[in-house]
This record gives sequence, structure tokens and C-alpha cells, in this order.
Amino acid sequence: MFTPETLREELAKPRQIVITTHHKPDGDALGSSLAVYHWLKASGHTVNVIVPSDFPLFLDWMPGRQHIIIYTANKAASDTLIAAADIIFCLDFNGLPRIHAMADSVRSANGVKIMIDHHLDPEGFDNYRHWDSSAAATAQLVYDFIVNVMGDHSAITPEIATCLYTGIMTDTGSFRFQTTTPSVHLIAADLIALGAKNWEIHEHVYNSYTENRLKFLGFCLLNRLEVMHEYRTALFSISRQDLDRFNIATGDTEGLVNYALAISGMKLAALIVDRTDQVKLSLRSIGDFPCNEVCRDHFNGGGHRNAAGGNSNEPLPDVVQKFKALLPEYKTRLVQ
Ligand code: 5GP
Ligand code: MN
Repeated sequence: MFTPETLREELAKPRQIVITTHHKPDGDALGSSLAVYHWLKASGHTVNVIVPSDFPLFLDWMPGRQHIIIYTANKAASDTLIAAADIIFCLDFNGLPRIHAMADSVRSANGVKIMIDHHLDPEGFDNYRHWDSSAAATAQLVYDFIVNVMGDHSAITPEIATCLYTGIMTDTGSFRFQTTTPSVHLIAADLIALGAKNWEIHEHVYNSYTENRLKFLGFCLLNRLEVMHEYRTALFSISRQDLDRFNIATGDTEGLVNYALAISGMKLAALIVDRTDQVKLSLRSIGDFPCNEVCRDHFNGGGHRNAAGGNSNEPLPDVVQKFKALLPEYKTRLVQ
């Protein structure tokens, strides 16, 4: 196992480094990856960010995103880079199935694997971890890693601050969720002081809808929302035809599930979407209700207590039926 000292020695010489993050990267995944990219690049390392899939349009402004390699579109070159890497940073995930088609290459690579993450139950593929499941975002842990483990606060440029702020902002639902502690606000304040333009980042992420995306939101609220008051649960189910009709791209369904929690009294919200390869579930809850347990036990997934995801290879109506059939089992925890 590596210690902070051996890690500092390791990073004292120019290294070949690969940074990766989970499938369909969100703001925290990309923010953390690009922050680490800028930080390592400035110390003279050769750095490549390789992600398992494309990422949402609302993140396609982040400093450094033009250097991101999408694995599925550049498989051979990516495999060579992964195999040759001295160090592989694994950010915002802790189990190799989360990087889909990249899993085998990363598993068999000889490079030192550094995991920075805030999800429960790490698989154990890493050689060094900076892991805290109570952290609001991986970007918060990247900040802590750079500042307190590596002692490199002065290395935080406006680009790095922007990336980290984006990660923390998106994973806390704009500083709304229970994970938003005083120290999260102190870090955000420091990042603004270091050059993150908070108002501009909010504009980029939240006011960058296409017309189609906003109309899709209206359509879903009107036609695809089912409220089950007896279980304090609300559910969106979205078919492939719905996605096609509004020309929905990666990331366009992001945030949709939260609207269901805006209904007074709701404890649990689900978004069930028929994607091309499989049906994807997103669960969100308020308070103690454990979304991650439901996803882990029934939908091949996981995540956090209040935000988790899973998937299924069954047809959409069957997955919706399965979800609804589970509600009586959880009723006491939903209505307490
Ligand atoms: P989302 O609903 O936004 O896709 O994901 C919410 C949270 O659940 C994220 O923290 C994400 O890492 C986790 N998550 C989403 N899908 C999966 C999955 O298929 N497996 C696991 N283990 N976690 C997931
Ligand atoms: Mn995260």
C-alpha cells in the first residue's frame, strides 16, 4: 500500500498518468478528473483523461474538456495509454464495473491505482485511496487531497478551482443536500476566492437547456409522472419513443428525477428510462430512506443513501412493475 510520503515521491518525477472516471460522467466525475488533470499537467507529467462514454452537453465548456479521450471511440490508443501508465487516478467510482468496457484494461494495468471517491463499499482494486463516504462530492476530496495530503494549496489555479466548484455544486444539488456541511461551504468559498466564477458556472450548468430539453421536461411533468401518495413516492417512466421524439441526448434527463421530490410529502422519487442498451433507474430520497439499498438489492446498482442508480435488462414496463411491487415492502420506512 502507498502512503502519502511514497505518493509524493512518486509524483516528484515526471510520470505517465491516466485519469479515469465512471460511465456517463456527471459534473463531479468530470470536475474531479479535469481538476486533477490541470494539477498534474502543471507539474510536468504526461496526463490523459480517458472516460468510458460521452458526457452531457451542459458540461461541454469545462476547462480542459477538449483533451478528454472517449474510450469507446478510441479503444486501441486508450488501451495502450492505460497499459503504459505509471499511475492511474480512478475518480468518483470505487468498483471497476462502473467503468464498463474499460474495466479489463484498468484491472490488468500495472500502474499504481489511486482511488479518490465518496461511494460506499469500495471493491478494493486500488493501491492508495482517499475515500470518505460522508463527503458531499469527490471534488471535495480532490480539494482535500491536493491541499492537505499533497500540501499544494498554492497549485490551485482558476481552472482547477472552476472544475472543483462544478463538482461540488452539481453533487450537492447547488448546496441543497444534507451533505452540504459548513466545511463544504468553506471549500466553496476558497474556490471562489481562487478564481472560480460561481455565477458563471451556475449559468453554464443550469441555464443551458436546448429548447427540446425544456419541452421534454414539460412533457414528462404532464404525461409521465405518477404519484403514489400512499407510499410518498413519485415515479417518471420514460420510453425510447419519448427520448426520440424530443431528440434527447446524454445528460438531458439529468435533474428530472428531482422534480418529483418537489411535491410536498414525497420521500422517494424514481426515474426509469429505457436507454438503448438497458433500462436505467435513478432514485432520490429525502431523509433516511436508503436508495442505495433498493438499487443494490433489486437493480444491480448502488450509490448513496439519498441518490442511487441501477439498471435492468428487462423491458421498461416490467422494471416499472417491479419497482412498484417493491413499495409495500418499504412502506413503513416511506411513511414513518
Ligand atoms: P444517477 O441516478 O444520477 O445516475 O446516479 C446517482 C448516484 O448513484 C451516483 O452517485 C452514481 O454514482 C450512483 N449510481 C448510478 N448508477 C449506478 C449503477 O449502475 N451502479 C452503482 N453502483 N452506482 C450507480
Ligand atoms: Mn460524485
